[in-house]
Amino acid sequence: MILILLGPPGAGKGTQAKLLSLEYGVPHISTGDMFRDHKARGTKIGREIQAIMDAGGLVTDEITNAMVKDRLARPDVRQGFLLDGYPRTTAQAEYLERELRSTGQKIDRVVSYEVPEELVVERISGRRSCPKCGAVYHVISNPPRRGALCDRDGATLVQRDDDRPENVKKRMQEYADKTWPLKRFYQDRKLVAEVEGVGTPEGILAATRAALEGRA
Ligand code: AMP
Ligand code: ZN
Repeated sequence: MILILLGPPGAGKGTQAKLLSLEYGVPHISTGDMFRDHKARGTKIGREIQAIMDAGGLVTDEITNAMVKDRLARPDVRQGFLLDGYPRTTAQAEYLERELRSTGQKIDRVVSYEVPEELVVERISGRRSCPKCGAVYHVISNPPRRGALCDRDGATLVQRDDDRPENVKKRMQEYADKTWPLKRFYQDRKLVAEVEGVGTPEGILAATRAALEGRA
């Protein structure tokens, strides 16, 4: 199964992607995680994207598409995969379509998480993550057990640079300008399943499952 998760920053795509990946047994491909990993390792790509990413801008289609192409060449994606945070522009969506066509694959569904803007801002500003294991918390809705320390490994949680208030505005603008039109793109291809992205992660997972199984 090939699934794409669409929605604004802070819509909970990452959380749902982790849950869905376990449930359906397909790899979770997050271009945001891949870029953060490049940055943390200080690779050539990492150095190229650092400034733009920290400021909440989008990495170029060229770099992003090339990275995704490499990822989709690995054998674990043969039974399907789940894309979280990609595509984010029409050029990326068109690129993906061509790539999949060339290997005889096709997208099964595109889940569009619908979340009111106020909630998105609240979710992003409260988000904290573990620099060691990548676990994600929220200061109010999903706080760590002890202070600002990761439950799993005790590392001090941090706020992502692009989650800082001054950069969130830029990300929302990029979303509105470049990513929002993708919903239409996939609606034209009759692939979109809308899911209300409000509530607990378990509740949203149940709604996603229902939408994918045609019960919504
Ligand atoms: P995310 O974790 O998906 O919110 O991604 C974090 C950041 O990585 C974004 O704000 C962008 O700077 C960059 N990024 C992730 N995915 C893409 C993409 N598909 N196209 C361009 N930039 C991306
Ligand atoms: Zn941790």
